[in-house]
Amino acid sequence: MNKYEILKTYFGYDSFRGAQEILIDQILSGRDVLGIMPTGAGKSLCYQIPALMLDGITLVISPLISLMKDQVGSLNQAGIHAAYLNSSLTPGQYRKALSYARQGRYPIIYVAPERLLTPEFLDFARNARISMVAVDEAHCVSQWGQDFRPGYLRIADFIRELPARPVVSAFTATATREVRDDILELLDLRDPAVTSTGFDRGNLYFAVETPRDRYGAVKGYIEEHSGESGIVYCLTRKQVDEVCGHLIRDGFPATRYHAGLSDEERRKNQEDFIYDRAPLMVATNAFGMGIDKSNVRFVLHYGMPKNIESYYQEAGRAGRDGEPAECILYYSGQDVITNRLFIENNRDNLELDPETAELVRGRDLDRLKKMTFYCCTNECLRDYILRYFGEYGSNYCGNCANCRKEFETAEVTEAA
Ligand code: ADP
Ligand code: MG
Repeated sequence: MNKYEILKTYFGYDSFRGAQEILIDQILSGRDVLGIMPTGAGKSLCYQIPALMLDGITLVISPLISLMKDQVGSLNQAGIHAAYLNSSLTPGQYRKALSYARQGRYPIIYVAPERLLTPEFLDFARNARISMVAVDEAHCVSQWGQDFRPGYLRIADFIRELPARPVVSAFTATATREVRDDILELLDLRDPAVTSTGFDRGNLYFAVETPRDRYGAVKGYIEEHSGESGIVYCLTRKQVDEVCGHLIRDGFPATRYHAGLSDEERRKNQEDFIYDRAPLMVATNAFGMGIDKSNVRFVLHYGMPKNIESYYQEAGRAGRDGEPAECILYYSGQDVITNRLFIENNRDNLELDPETAELVRGRDLDRLKKMTFYCCTNECLRDYILRYFGEYGSNYCGNCANCRKEFETAEVTEAA
C-alpha cells in the first residue's frame, strides 16, 4: 500500500495535514528528521505510516506508559500489530511480548527509554532488523526543557549498538532554540531534515485577567459556557482539590487530576472527562500529555504557569478540532512568588552538579520572567507567544483580549 492508502485504510483520513507528508517522504527517503509541530498537529502519523511501509521494525521511544498504551490500543483497533515494552508488564508478559517481537509479529514496538540498554532488549534489537527509531516527545532529552528524562540520553548510545544504523526520526512540540539544538546533538541525528510548522493556532482566543476573586471569575466563566467541556489548570494539588470541590458543591460536573491521587482514581477521572461524563477537568500540569480530546472549548489557568512553553502546551489542549476555543489566564502577583519557590526547590536539580544546577535555575527564572511579561503586556498576546518561539507574529491578531481591546478603543475614538 502507498501512504495515501495506508492513511485512508488504517487511519480513516482522506488527506495529510500540514507537514505530515513532507516528514513521511523524508523518512522514506532514508533521512533523519526532526519534526517540530504544535500539539494536536498529528505527529504520530508521521512515524506510524513510514513504519508500516519500511521493511523491518520501527521502535518508538515514548516517555509515558499511558501514552504508549493509548497509541498501541488505537493501532491495534485499526488492525495494526503493535506492542509496548515497559515496566507495566510483568516479567512473564515482557518475555512473551519480546518473543513475539523476535518472530517479527510487530512492525511497530513502543519502548520505554530505560529498557533500551538492558541486555535482553539489546539482544533482541541486535538480532532484529530495526529500520527506524522514532523518538516521540523528543524534548525530553534536553535538560533545558521542562520534561527532562535521563533515559532519553541513552537513545543515541543504543542506536550506536545496532549493527546497521536505522533512520532516526524525532518529534516534539517544543520549539525553542536551546531545546532544538539539544535534540539534534544528544540524539545524534545525522544530516537531519528539520521541519518546523507554524505554531499559530488561529482558532484560540487568548486573554489574561486579574480578578480579585479568582474562583468567582472561574465560576462565572463556566456558568456562561455551560454544557461545554473545559480544563482548569491549577498550580498545586491543594488548589486542584479546593477548586474542584467548590465546583462540585456549586453543581458543576467537574472532576480532578493530579499526581497525589491513586492510579485508579486518575484513570477513572481522566476517562470521565474524555467521555464527557464530567466535562470539566480541574488538574495540575500532570494532566494532559498525550490526551487527545478534540472538543475542549476552553482552558482556564487558575494561576500563572512557570513558563510560556508550559502555558502554550496546556492552553493548546483547547480547540483541537479547529473550532473557536478560549484560553484565559487568571493572574495574580502571588503566582510569581509561588513559581519562584518551585524553581528554588526543584528537586530534579539536586542530581545536577552545582554549576549546572545554577545555570538551570537561572534559565528557569528567566523563563518565568518572560511568562510574567506575558501577563502584563498590552500588546498582542498571540504575537508575544509566537515571538517567544522564534516566529514572526503580525502585531495584531484580532483574536486576543489585547487586540480586541484596542479595536474597541479605536471604535470609541472614531465615534467621538
Ligand atoms: P500530536 O502528537 O502532534 O499532538 P496526534 O498525533 O496525537 O498529535 O494527533 C492529533 C489528532 O489528529 C489525532 O486525533 C489524529 O488522529 C488526528 N489526525 C492526525 N492526522 C490527521 C489527518 N491527516 N487528518 C485528520 N486528522 C488527523
Ligand atoms: Mg504526540
